[in-house]
Amino acid sequence: MTPEAPGLLILGGTGEARDLARRLVAAGTARVVSSLAGRVSDPARPAGEVRIGGFGGIAGLAAWLGEHRPAVVVDATHPYAATMSAHAVAACAACPTPLLGVIRPPWTAGPGDDWHDAGSLAEAAARAAALGRRAFVTTGRQDLAAFAAHPEVFCLIRCVDPPAGDLPPAREVILARGPYDSGAELALMRAHGIDVLITKNSGGALTAGKLAAARELGIPVVMVRRPPPPDYPLHCRSAEVAALMVTAHWLGRHGRRVA
Ligand code: NAP
Repeated sequence: MTPEAPGLLILGGTGEARDLARRLVAAGTARVVSSLAGRVSDPARPAGEVRIGGFGGIAGLAAWLGEHRPAVVVDATHPYAATMSAHAVAACAACPTPLLGVIRPPWTAGPGDDWHDAGSLAEAAARAAALGRRAFVTTGRQDLAAFAAHPEVFCLIRCVDPPAGDLPPAREVILARGPYDSGAELALMRAHGIDVLITKNSGGALTAGKLAAARELGIPVVMVRRPPPPDYPLHCRSAEVAALMVTAHWLGRHGRRVA
């Protein structure tokens, strides 16, 4: 990016981030660069340009912003990517660069749901051990050592890439990438005799099928609480609204007219 051709930096790695990039690239609103952490092998690539890997903390991101001078940064990372979001808030304030956060609405329990709140994976593992003996663990590949502390619980672990670190001794690992529909989730949970589900409160439709399946089976769900929301100067709740806000900002800044 150059000052003559200012663009948009999307902090991505989520469905919303790809949706936003697709909308803005299709509209030709601006030059779009998406940033991925580089955590998963073979990530789904967003439309537009892509950069991969950490920036090197707040200072590294601020240096990147100073060099590339995007007109807007959109933080569309996952609700649990708290470090990246805090870095975006600090670096954009320092530069300064306008920052828009996309906060995906959390799931909420409804009739027939039996949800149990947990503040951490360690707490979630302890709660799961009190509630069942065959756990479906969908919290990702990191920090699964918390479940190794409860060897009496069999864990069906599903993640995109192979998990690292200590793992529970009684386990089966499924490598898969969503979306997952509720019928397939129900069949999977039945086939493995699952009696408790552990999940982050990611929100969104793409991975909500497991919650409907748990409701159908009448089994408890241990819900790992979200970190506090980032202190964004401005935020919205969907890629659709983010695209409209970015476009409005763009038109205001560059004086381009819509037909
Ligand atoms: P995190 O703990 O908030 O971030 C850790 C570090 O990873 C950041 O300080 C940053 O390194 C780098 N990073 C994270 N997101 C980045 C991005 N989009 N572009 C460049 N660098 C990034 O986040 P995380 O939990 O590791 O998540 C990593 C990525 O996976 C995020 O993009 C997130 O949207 C996605 N994701 C996370 C989850 C989850 O449950 N946490 C689930 C699905 C997808 P530097 O300090 O070096 O800049």
